[in-house]
Amino acid sequence: MISASSVVYSVRKKMVVAIFDVYCIKFPETCSASSSFSHIICSSNILACISRTKFSQVILVVAMAKPDYQSKSLPLWDFTTTLASHEVEFLLSGEEKVPLASFGEEKTIICLFFSANWCRPCQSFTPKLVHLYNRLRTIGKELEIVFVSLDHDYDGFNANLKSMPWIAVPFNVNLHKKLCERFRVVRIPSLVPLNLDGQSVEEDIIGLIEDYGEDAFPFTRKRREELKALDDSKRQGGKIDQLLARPGRDYVVASNGGKILVSELVGKTVGLYFGAHWCPPCRAFTAQLVEAYKQLRSSRGGCFEVVLVSSDRDQKEFDVNVGGMPWLAVPFEDQTRQDLCRIFNIKAIPALVLIGPDGKPISTNGRNIITLYGAKAFPFTQSSIEEIEASLKKEGDLLPRQIQDIKHEHVLKLDMAKAYVCDYCERQGKFWVFSCDACDYDLHPTCVEEAC
Ligand SMILES: [Zn+2]
Ligand SMILES: [Zn+2]
Repeated sequence: MISASSVVYSVRKKMVVAIFDVYCIKFPETCSASSSFSHIICSSNILACISRTKFSQVILVVAMAKPDYQSKSLPLWDFTTTLASHEVEFLLSGEEKVPLASFGEEKTIICLFFSANWCRPCQSFTPKLVHLYNRLRTIGKELEIVFVSLDHDYDGFNANLKSMPWIAVPFNVNLHKKLCERFRVVRIPSLVPLNLDGQSVEEDIIGLIEDYGEDAFPFTRKRREELKALDDSKRQGGKIDQLLARPGRDYVVASNGGKILVSELVGKTVGLYFGAHWCPPCRAFTAQLVEAYKQLRSSRGGCFEVVLVSSDRDQKEFDVNVGGMPWLAVPFEDQTRQDLCRIFNIKAIPALVLIGPDGKPISTNGRNIITLYGAKAFPFTQSSIEEIEASLKKEGDLLPRQIQDIKHEHVLKLDMAKAYVCDYCERQGKFWVFSCDACDYDLHPTCVEEAC
């Protein structure tokens, strides 16, 4: 058997620490069967794969190790009897003690929150959970959270507790181990809801909260399905205001800080531009989009609008980003930015989702369309793209397959290029080009002077 620390080491050598950041699996000091994940790794041949393998196989290991969550919510007494069996008589609420006997009498949904302050995903998730907890309680939802610490020591537990407004199980390593086993917690952070009358519970509550924030409550599978259906109807429903506005905000912002009503976008072709100031490919794409935008604004008036859905890291960066763009933006402090990324499944930026005048999506690959065809592709429908492609083909059919130009010693062949610079006029070119196979020489078809 190989110790867990050597597993971590061999994994680190392969630079796949990121996977462990995502899942943050807790390895015990020495390998034992106490965590099913470390057990899988240490007791099987997979370790051999890890030490000499590729990234994909390691992902496979982690995927295999995905914990088998209970599918049904457990009753509160499952928790309280485990505590009682360890002679715990009270829970901690700040400086106060909450007697176990009276805990959970009111019909509240109680979530056990397994977390540790040494765990980076916990560190980033806890503030989101605090926000959700405070919000839900403000709007009268009955939720209580109980912190079960997997901290290494009492100081760690205390430091962690200071950042949490909810109740905690007193620090007791053995009891926490027991609770992890009882509630089948094999990774942290983890939330386990109790008191849901045996309803099916969403498998990945942390992911659900990351995606939907407070809307995720009460974390059941039914709720996940409702939210997914809501996303689908927003995406396909043909209502731009449902996509861009939300209760209490019916506007988007302009680069000068002004507010533009979302209702003014109804009936227009709208590009939702997912980008960020810190992202160099976004800056390159922004320049192309600005060009197409300006052309369309002058040729088609207000038929086309772009709304930035920023992935900037803070308000300051967002302000700089928006200030340099001629179009509109979803306000930075707004959940809608996250909602739109989820609804359109945006995994990388820059991305451009094109919405038609009927409010329904035309293409999620607007970036490619703009990069290739620019403003010419308007209104970006399948038929307009096909038209462009047909006319390009026609153009090519009229050109000779190869030429001999007086400016160049070799034969130049007709080719198609996304972008090039003409070696004669030094201007940019797109699509048809006469190129030399022998040297890197390109010529616009219009710059050709055929040798006699
Ligand atoms: Zn030229
Ligand atoms: Zn040449």
